[in-house]
Amino acid sequence: MPVRIQSSIIRIMDDYFSILFEAVQIGPVTAPNRFFQVPHCNGMGYRMPQALAAMRGMKAQGGWGVVSTEEVEIHHTSDLAPYVEGRLWDDADIPALRLMVEAVHEHGALAAIELTHNGLTAGNAFSRVPPLGPSSMTVIDAYEPVQARRMDKEAFRNVRRWHRKAAMRAKKAGFDIIYCYAGHDLSLAMQLMQRRYNDRTDEYGGSLQNRVRLFRELIEDTKEAVGDTCAVAARLAVEELLSPEEGITSQGEGYEIVAMLAELPDLWDVNISDWSNDSATSRFEKEGFQEAHIAFVKSLTSKPVVGVGRYTSPQSMVTAVRGGIVDLIGAARPSIADPFLPNKIRDGRFEDIRECIGCNICVTADTIGYPIRCTQNPTMGEEWRRGWHPEIIPPMQSSKEIAVIGGGPAGLECARALGQRGYAVVLVEARRALGGRVELESQLPGLSEWRRVIEWRLVQIEKMPHVSLYPQSTMTTAGILEAGFEHVIVATGASWRRDGIGRYQWGPIPGHNRPHVYTPDDIFAGKMPAGRVVVYDNDHYYLGGLIAEKLLQEGNEVLLVTPSPLVSYWTQYTLEQEKIQRRLMALNCELLVQQKLVEIHEQQVTLEHTICGERRKISCTGVVLLADRLPNDTLYRSLKVYRENGQLNYLNVIGDAEAPNTIERAVFSGHLAAREFDEEDGEDTPFKVERMM
Ligand code: ADP
Ligand code: SF4
Repeated sequence: MPVRIQSSIIRIMDDYFSILFEAVQIGPVTAPNRFFQVPHCNGMGYRMPQALAAMRGMKAQGGWGVVSTEEVEIHHTSDLAPYVEGRLWDDADIPALRLMVEAVHEHGALAAIELTHNGLTAGNAFSRVPPLGPSSMTVIDAYEPVQARRMDKEAFRNVRRWHRKAAMRAKKAGFDIIYCYAGHDLSLAMQLMQRRYNDRTDEYGGSLQNRVRLFRELIEDTKEAVGDTCAVAARLAVEELLSPEEGITSQGEGYEIVAMLAELPDLWDVNISDWSNDSATSRFEKEGFQEAHIAFVKSLTSKPVVGVGRYTSPQSMVTAVRGGIVDLIGAARPSIADPFLPNKIRDGRFEDIRECIGCNICVTADTIGYPIRCTQNPTMGEEWRRGWHPEIIPPMQSSKEIAVIGGGPAGLECARALGQRGYAVVLVEARRALGGRVELESQLPGLSEWRRVIEWRLVQIEKMPHVSLYPQSTMTTAGILEAGFEHVIVATGASWRRDGIGRYQWGPIPGHNRPHVYTPDDIFAGKMPAGRVVVYDNDHYYLGGLIAEKLLQEGNEVLLVTPSPLVSYWTQYTLEQEKIQRRLMALNCELLVQQKLVEIHEQQVTLEHTICGERRKISCTGVVLLADRLPNDTLYRSLKVYRENGQLNYLNVIGDAEAPNTIERAVFSGHLAAREFDEEDGEDTPFKVERMM
């Protein structure tokens, strides 16, 4: 009887999620299911075609029914250098893209390409030709001292011809879906629609009908050129989160554009703009956050609609489809964190889904310019160069038992991956809660989803009887030797410096040892400053701003002081800087940039301007210092002696205990150590490099 109940529940569950596995007709092609990896940048682009093909192919293997490129430049006048995107400038670019198509087709998925002329966003730094724009104006999105050339009739004819040729080349490369792109404030077709960039009085300016003209023409041209066998997708930002006077809104021109072109493309891919709004981090937006803006689209068209919203929960996906918001579940980040997400849903392995935490480390690959990486998925970007698979790992080489000391992101991932290889692992953690810094930081405002780094790993470890967890156990050298561990991996993390030494600060800050001076470690331990607090952010990532936010929420007066020219400087690359600053300003945080903290007194601090050296005194009752961190490597250094005299067979140090870094690097370090255990060390570069000759 209970067995029957259980199987009927499973059947109901199967039926419930089966909607996600229905095929969807998109013009002349058929998507095998509703999982659609929308275009996403990756820092590999034209420069690393083999790595890119392997990464995209992995998503197809994991069940994504459609796998797209990043934005692909159609011509050298749309050159996004120094950013590395896709290129289809001429025939010579076809073979590289064909690699990706073949990798995607191998697993029965459709390959989509996002063609774009980037207009005002392409500074053409590599090709050195003047950018093209609707108006004669400065290029956007950077402070480049470059202006675009105002397009004349001939330029419009050229762009249409280049786009058509690119579509034909894309078809030749084997793509099934060809995008016409008007999104993210990044493409000429969109810039023409945006009143703020378009001062034209000809047939491409003035009325919305005129401003939409190029987008319409590109869709029509593409359909005519390749529409017999390829589906043509329109990607449109229907909302810019600006006023109707300034931008496109889902109740204003965004609505009207979709209404105008409703049945023209074979597929609508709709979202909010700019990229920082579309790829909002979990600190600012939660799953499904775009629904309110895009829901109207399906009421205007009979064509399938794809939308994103960092969907990681199968229930939310079903709700979005059944609720008539989208036909296809668009995903960039969820597919990066878990290329096998669709297959896991198909197989009912919900607890195995490695949910994206919304940190945007993946985005930094594009904004800074290195191959893509991911906090949750350490294999992302390593598919080709290291041959890593997100679900499969080489089996153990021996029956050794390994002690991993420290259960932060590095230790947890290392123990999990060693366990996946089949090794017996003992993971020892000093604190009651596992997760190290992630457990602590995820309690800060907005970061609760970061706990997924811990939860996914604990769920996996729970399934492995050969991996044992020992929380609340501080390990010492004597304890390790007494326990008879012969193979030890130390992942004991790092501590914030108390003396203030860090970037721009080469000696201790006088007064750092006063009782009203705190570090983030104190805050996490519940020791809080009160009153008028200076948060001195010489770390420049998210934590300074978050501690300020927490202190403000608790009713303190906060001054965020930083030697950098921007608050939370590095969060520019995760697309968060403006959002962070806006939130701090809304909370009345006083922001002081380009100020170095030179001395801490009893009731005040002395600041020095980083450029002119002018000094000023600011009164305060507490100071939080975010400086460098120091590795907690005493245990490792003391064990090293025993390793050198042969009492230990193996010793390694990983994560912050080796070198303090981001959470993504800690997870990667743990994963790498697990893969390298029992393998031979080589002198050569441990991964393949795509070299031109
Ligand atoms: P990482 O990012 O490298 O994983 P974390 O600082 O997040 O580093 O985590 C390190 C973990 O190691 C923390 O949870 C800490 O409590 C634990 N730890 C530090 N020293 C010891 C020790 N001697 N024995 C057991 N656990 C330790
Ligand atoms: Fe998600 Fe962060 Fe991975 Fe990007 S890096 S996919 S935001 S977990």
